[in-house]
Amino acid sequence: VYVHVPFCARRCSYCDFSIAVRRETPVDEFISAIHDELAIRFPHGDRWNADTLYVGGGTPSRLGGEGVRRLLGTLTERIVLGADAEVTLEANPDDVTAEHAAAWVRAGVNRVSVGVQSFDDRVLAWMHRTHDAARAIASVRTLRDAGITNVSVDLIFALPAALERDWARDLDAALALEPDHISLYGLTVEPHTPLGRWVERGVTTAPAESQYEAEYLLAHARLTSAGFEHYEVSNFGRPGRASRHNACYWDGAPYAGIGPAAHGYDGESRRWNAAYASWTTLLRNGADPVAGHEVLSDENRAVERVYLGLRTRAGASLAPRQAQRAATWVDAGWASLADGARLTLSPEGWLRLDELAAALTVCEAHS
Ligand code: SF4
Repeated sequence: VYVHVPFCARRCSYCDFSIAVRRETPVDEFISAIHDELAIRFPHGDRWNADTLYVGGGTPSRLGGEGVRRLLGTLTERIVLGADAEVTLEANPDDVTAEHAAAWVRAGVNRVSVGVQSFDDRVLAWMHRTHDAARAIASVRTLRDAGITNVSVDLIFALPAALERDWARDLDAALALEPDHISLYGLTVEPHTPLGRWVERGVTTAPAESQYEAEYLLAHARLTSAGFEHYEVSNFGRPGRASRHNACYWDGAPYAGIGPAAHGYDGESRRWNAAYASWTTLLRNGADPVAGHEVLSDENRAVERVYLGLRTRAGASLAPRQAQRAATWVDAGWASLADGARLTLSPEGWLRLDELAAALTVCEAHS
């Protein structure tokens, strides 16, 4: 189950997520709307069983200690979590206090993903992040002290060259915190964000592709030599610490999405909810907050299976014609092909993921 908590203190310069900027987080209103959504989605009091719960955003840690406890209490009235369920909360370093962290542990959170992004205060200010490096470092220690044994750190790479960000230094600073998991995001310039406007006005220049590649490959080398497994295009985990929740997206397992703009997939079709303002209005009127619905054809599912499989270290199973197409990628060092049918991309291949997956899709369509 994925739950989207849309609130953020301010919008980061690069962010185009579906969020609601609020100085004060409307905790009561939000939890009551989640309660209403669950009542609509489970009209006969039925319940879902879930192996993983991921509370993402936005900034779910803005709900505080008590707010997260109440949210999880509301969710588990309808969602039965397995005994060893992975329960992840995304947190901004600013919200990680000893009191909040202790409340999150008591509420059942056992994994926290911290949005660190960089350990360079100048860079964090450019990103419009609300925290500084000292706060990020302290937040991981506070989580550990509270008993969170599974901590993930998010970092952003490929920042504009003019910022002169020292990527190697940031990777080493992240490793020094001894996290269990690290997620990397390459900066993308989206229109309608402050960054998009800076680039449009020529105030900022997007980084060259060569910089993106160099930083990605440096992260692969640095993190794998420190004992992390590069198990998915953007994710690294210590052995046994891969994100179980995200693995279900890549494996094509069904998941429910609750909250504004959340997406769900039942194995055959996808549904997505309205963004925050409409989501609350629809629920206030007793209506399902769904904004769209799409039934996937067998062909859609086959294409997705290949694309999602290629994102992971497990790779994707190919039809003979696709395997033939991929043979040259093995020679180029972008992939390996096991038993002539299971294709796994190397880090150099992951840099070309979209292009390679698209080439296989064309093969599939013509086969
Ligand atoms: S904290 Fe995350 S969701 Fe919120 S504005 Fe920043 S990047 Fe976007």
